[in-house]
Amino acid sequence: MLPDALLQLTELLARLPGVGEKTAQRFALHLVAEKSGTAQALGVALTELGQRVKSCERCGNIAEVDGAGKAVCGVCRDSRRDSALLCIVAKVQDLLAIERSGAMRGRYFVLGRLLSPLDGIGPDELPLPRLFQRISEDGVREVIVATPPSVDGEATALLLARELTARGVAVSRIASGVPHGGDLEFADQITLGRAIEGRRTLDSR
Ligand SMILES: [Zn+2]
Repeated sequence: MLPDALLQLTELLARLPGVGEKTAQRFALHLVAEKSGTAQALGVALTELGQRVKSCERCGNIAEVDGAGKAVCGVCRDSRRDSALLCIVAKVQDLLAIERSGAMRGRYFVLGRLLSPLDGIGPDELPLPRLFQRISEDGVREVIVATPPSVDGEATALLLARELTARGVAVSRIASGVPHGGDLEFADQITLGRAIEGRRTLDSR
């Protein structure tokens, strides 16, 4: 009984994290009723988002696309950063949380996913070739693994430690302080800062 366009919008909004069917419909009805042009502005912003913002081609962080169509993020462009130090995170939100702590003076690599044998995600599904290339190109000497303290996060950290120590890179893991099963994204800045400063060497044997 509702117009197709409205149903379609509701269905799309419901795909967003934390938005259920009811909330999605409330948003859609609000956008139809409101008169200040939010729906049109939102449409333009979403179109531009796809054209002007992409994943950084070096680290996977969010980046603005430049005039030449290249997307390199602010962290990768910052020449004051120590390129021999690389922090590996699962997702962009974790990178942003660590940046807020101010404790990381190196650069990052976003995996995009974690090793998860139960979900059928094995080592081949991780962007390891791109990571190894980055490490050799930048002359990375130390890697800090900042995957979350969950079963999948620990399994990924062990895999990375094995692969990277075999390539002569020193590998450390962020210290405890972030609760087990917790999400880095929601850890406070001081806890995250301490977790990075108190990192310990990962023994891969
Ligand atoms: Zn980057």
